[in-house]
Amino acid sequence: MLKKFERYPLTFGPTSIEKLDRLSKHLGGKVEIYAKREDCNSGLAFGGNKLRKLEYIIPDAIASKADTLVSVGGVQSNHTRMVAAVAAKIGMKCVLVQESWVPHEDAVYDRVGNILLSRIMGAEVWLVDEGFDIGIRHSWEQALDEVKQRGDRPYAIPAGASVHKYGGLGYIGFAEEVCAQERQLGFAFDYIVVCTVTGSTQAGMVVGFAKHSRQRNVIGIDASATPIQTKAQALQIARHTAKLVDLGMEIADDDVRLFQEYAYPCYGIPSEDTKEAIRLCARLEGLITDPVYEGKSMQGLVDLIQNGFFPEGSKVLFAHLGGGPAINSYGYTFRNG
Ligand SMILES: *Cc1c(COP(=O)(O)O)cnc(C)c1O
Repeated sequence: MLKKFERYPLTFGPTSIEKLDRLSKHLGGKVEIYAKREDCNSGLAFGGNKLRKLEYIIPDAIASKADTLVSVGGVQSNHTRMVAAVAAKIGMKCVLVQESWVPHEDAVYDRVGNILLSRIMGAEVWLVDEGFDIGIRHSWEQALDEVKQRGDRPYAIPAGASVHKYGGLGYIGFAEEVCAQERQLGFAFDYIVVCTVTGSTQAGMVVGFAKHSRQRNVIGIDASATPIQTKAQALQIARHTAKLVDLGMEIADDDVRLFQEYAYPCYGIPSEDTKEAIRLCARLEGLITDPVYEGKSMQGLVDLIQNGFFPEGSKVLFAHLGGGPAINSYGYTFRNG
C-alpha cells in the first residue's frame, strides 16, 4: 500500500515481537501476550512510534527546501524529542514549542528526560504556557511566523506528527510488517492493543489492517482523557489516509475502537492503577512503560484480560510505542518503587 510514497529511513527495520510469558501466566494464562517493540526501533535518541510517521514526512520536508523543523508538544513530549533527533540527523535546525499540557509538579520536570535530550541535540526549546489540546495549536503557528520573520525556512510538523497529510502512512507499514511476521510465526494475532492520543498511530493501523478486514481487532486505549476529540481525529486521519493509499473501502465510525476507561485522572498523570500496571510489567518482564502513554495502555490490557474481554486462547499483541525517557520526570511518583 505504501509503494508510491517516498520513505526516508530513520529506523533499524522491522521491530521485534517478544512473548511476555510471565505476564501472560500471571494474568491467568488464558491469553497469550506479545509485545511489538516499537520502543526499540531506532538508534535515534531512544526511538519510538513517531519515527515511523516521520519516515514518510521527512522526504516532503527535504523537498520543500526548508531548513528548520518546527513542531509542538507538551514539556515531556516524546514526539518533539524525535523531531529534534531527526533534525540533527538530516542537518536541519529545530524549533520546539513545549506547552504546559500536564499539571504535574516535579522539581526537575522541565530539566530531565525528553526535554533534556532535545536540548542536548541542539533544538531551540520554547516553553509556553498553553494547556492540553491535540488540535492545531496557535503557539505553533506563531512559532512558524517567527521562524520565517528571522529569515529561516520552517517546515511544520503538527503535534504527534498526526494531522499531517502523510501522518497516517507509517503505521500502515506497521500493519504490513505484522502480517509478514505472522507468516513467519505461523499464527495470526487476534487483537492489537495500542495507546492513542493524537490518533495517527491507531489510524494507520486501522487502514493497514482494513485491507485484511481486521481493523476492528485494533483496540485503542485512550490516554488523552479527551476521547471525543481523539476518536474524531483518529477517524479523520484514517479516512484521509485510506483515500491517499486507495484502500478502496470506507472507514466506518466503529472501525476506530477507543477504550476510554484508563486515561484518568488526566493526560500525563498516572492513576494508582496505571502505576500498578507499570510496576507489574516491569517486575515480571523487565519491560518499562511510562506514566503518560504505555502505562495506561498496559493498564488497559491487564484490565481487559482480567475482565475476560479477550476469548480464551487469544493472542494479543501489545504495541509498545516507546516513551521511556519521560519516566525520569516522575522521580517523586516512583520514589519508593
Ligand atoms: C505519541 C505517543 C503515543 C500516542 O500516539 P498517537 O499517534 O499520538 O496517538 C503513544 N505512546 C507513546 C510512547 C507516544 O510517544
